[in-house]
Amino acid sequence: MPEHRLDLAPAVTIPPHLVGQVQSKLAYVDELIASADVAESGDRITLALHAAAGARAAEIEEKVQRVVREMAQGSIAPKVEILEDHLARPTSYSADPLDELLARGEVYEESTGIFTFGPLMSRLIAYFESRFLELAAHFDAQPYRFPTLMSAKFLDRVDYFRAFPHSLTFATHLREDLDIINQFAETAKYEGKGLNSPAEFFSQVEAMLSPAVCYHLYFSLADHPLPNGQLVATAVGTCFRYESNNLTSLERLWNFTMREVIFVGSKDFVLEHREQSRQFMHRIFEELGLAYQVETANDPFFVGEFRKQAAFQNAFQLKYEIRARLPFKESTLAIGSYNYHQDFFGRHLGITLPDGKPIHTGCTAFGLERVAHAFLAQHGLDPARWPAAVREALS
Ligand code: 5GP
Ligand code: ZN
Repeated sequence: MPEHRLDLAPAVTIPPHLVGQVQSKLAYVDELIASADVAESGDRITLALHAAAGARAAEIEEKVQRVVREMAQGSIAPKVEILEDHLARPTSYSADPLDELLARGEVYEESTGIFTFGPLMSRLIAYFESRFLELAAHFDAQPYRFPTLMSAKFLDRVDYFRAFPHSLTFATHLREDLDIINQFAETAKYEGKGLNSPAEFFSQVEAMLSPAVCYHLYFSLADHPLPNGQLVATAVGTCFRYESNNLTSLERLWNFTMREVIFVGSKDFVLEHREQSRQFMHRIFEELGLAYQVETANDPFFVGEFRKQAAFQNAFQLKYEIRARLPFKESTLAIGSYNYHQDFFGRHLGITLPDGKPIHTGCTAFGLERVAHAFLAQHGLDPARWPAAVREALS
């Protein structure tokens, strides 16, 4: 554990609804920061540092205060609407399942935020996915398979670099140059926290690792009218969101899996399907015995975009999060979301309805590792104590 600390008084008191959001952004402020803590009262920030800040203390403080001001100054608390509350549903386990999973060799941490899952998690995830596929079948969703790499050109077109620059993961390769490739082969070593190779060995970035699944569908529809004007699709994919030192336990992974059901069509078509999704999943989550609630939420936009974008999402109820209870820490974790993007992708990508207007999109997305983690956090690792539907399906 780092012993160097920096205590700061934020320039403006951080309101309760922003404490978590500001804290998670502080990870990206400076490489010296090992972890950040914002007091619940919002009037104290404690940074743990990898080394003494020395002469850099003032610079780090200035950057922290910039984050605080940009995110908190003049911020109005969003009106959180709770659409479903099943948090009181009985659960039978109260420890962090990760400890037991690691001890049993069911989970292995290959590197920070990169986990391998053994038979128990794999079977559970396959079962939960089969239940999510019932939702897809209900809508007769068309199956798609998407790549893990995502085109940087398309991500640029949908303004991703403005909204979520901090969480991007870049794919690169060695430049096509015999000397560089030979030099790399002879000298490359993993040192400290990464490869020792100089940045100029690597190519320009043409591709990223996908941060979401549904984007691939929208990209494939770009610059054309949508035949028939509507589409329901489903796909599972590996997603990547770099979370810096917020990568703790199974709650935040750099590399995770999402099953999505995706709606493309008119505004009414998308909104009706999003609402039907929620009602359909209500029954499934009940059978899974999950304690959860569904509430309005916003995406974790980066500092400069946060206030405006989060307020917009909230005002128009663009995102509902399914938050499962984690009894061991008396908190909740987003295991999925019901999203409506309005005509954002239609406008940016030139996808049109038969009348020439931009198409609307939405998706229902489930984070598979998080669903399994939340289930085990609520019901433990002993199948005998699981809700009947899960026990019987896996026996
Ligand atoms: P969204 O598109 O709403 O941000 O993400 C959809 C779902 O993916 C989330 O509700 C969550 O279950 C999952 N997810 C998002 N970020 C992470 C992450 O960092 N780690 C894990 N394990 N799942 C995530
Ligand atoms: Zn999506």
